[in-house]
Amino acid sequence: MFNKSLIEKLQTIETPFYYYDLELLKNTIAAVKAEADKYNFHIHYALKANANEQLLKIICKAGFGADCVSGNEVKAALKNNFNPSSIVFAGVGKTDKEITESLVSDIFCFNCESIEEIKVINDLASSLNKKARIALRINPNVNANTHHYITTGLEENKFGINFWELESVMDEIKNSSNIDLIGLHFHIGSQICDLEPFRLLCTRVNEIQHWFETRNISIAHLNVGGGLGVNYHEPDKNAVPDFKSYFEVFNKFLDIKKHQQVHFELGRSIVAQCGVLISKVLFIKKGKKTNFIILDAGMTELIRPALYQSYHKIENLTAEFLSFERDKVETNYDVAGPICESSDCFAKSYLLPESKRGDLIALRTTGAYGQVMSLEYNLRERAKAIYSDGI
Ligand SMILES: *Cc1c(COP(=O)(O)O)cnc(C)c1O
Repeated sequence: MFNKSLIEKLQTIETPFYYYDLELLKNTIAAVKAEADKYNFHIHYALKANANEQLLKIICKAGFGADCVSGNEVKAALKNNFNPSSIVFAGVGKTDKEITESLVSDIFCFNCESIEEIKVINDLASSLNKKARIALRINPNVNANTHHYITTGLEENKFGINFWELESVMDEIKNSSNIDLIGLHFHIGSQICDLEPFRLLCTRVNEIQHWFETRNISIAHLNVGGGLGVNYHEPDKNAVPDFKSYFEVFNKFLDIKKHQQVHFELGRSIVAQCGVLISKVLFIKKGKKTNFIILDAGMTELIRPALYQSYHKIENLTAEFLSFERDKVETNYDVAGPICESSDCFAKSYLLPESKRGDLIALRTTGAYGQVMSLEYNLRERAKAIYSDGI
């Protein structure tokens, strides 16, 4: 991703900032498209991974739909030209205002997560004299084997409708004249690198479909969510995730009926690798046991390590590209930010070239759940962005 002349340019820009490699984003999008098109699968980009407008414009141009989890995400999708008929709206707690505005915008589908939500959508649609298309988000009770904070498809999670509730859900829908049930929706979690959970999901979806078939309820759309993982440890090795194998699993194991359309909601796998958080070393603190690198970026720019102990590869770009002799001496550092929280630490005991004040540091694979999760805590400025085509 980096070379000497790029590093020299980045050095002149005020840190911290996100750097986006748009070439890599475009290559990733092209790979998703090529593999999904083989099976006529529909892709909805999950805005919550990164709602940066420059990125949204590129993703929208590729013809993807949008997967939103708030009213403001629906608005951002519309503002950036996503077609309303390609917008799906999920979320366990949609407000009346968010539902009403989405009905007015005529989005494709609400992914519903409870009986009470279906009632409310029916009432609001009725008062607007509209029909709301909904999909039932069903909890498949599949363990995604990912971090417990980002697993969503187990009965103990707050998300989705459980299988044993389906009878009463269908009773509710029968009595809801402004609801049009068009699909089933699933999302088992995030950062799933092993494809086995997706195969298990297919098996569960087939069983659940059978339940509807035996009741003569036709389901036009299957939405299997997102969750494909990326390689955080070696970001340059598989910069474009293996979409081929991922879609193959669904094509092979999902029982797709002739009339059905299959939808995916990919977030992380599309944008994670194209983003890098660039920061400078403010100070080196030498302790008895630990040496600290204090960066000018912290959990306010990238909260993932503090929130769910996530790993991001750290590179000293100055030592690696501009000052070769230093690359030979490596030291263990705790790499921390400036925020007044002990959890504001990106990595403990991380092996890096000998580092100095002013060195440029890259936190890799931060295009997803990075900038979009940034905070103003400590009255910090919101993280800025620089694009590869603009420098
Ligand atoms: C977060 C989320 C996604 C995207 O997940 P990724 O792991 O980023 O692909 C898709 N669908 C729903 C409902 C989500 O909440």
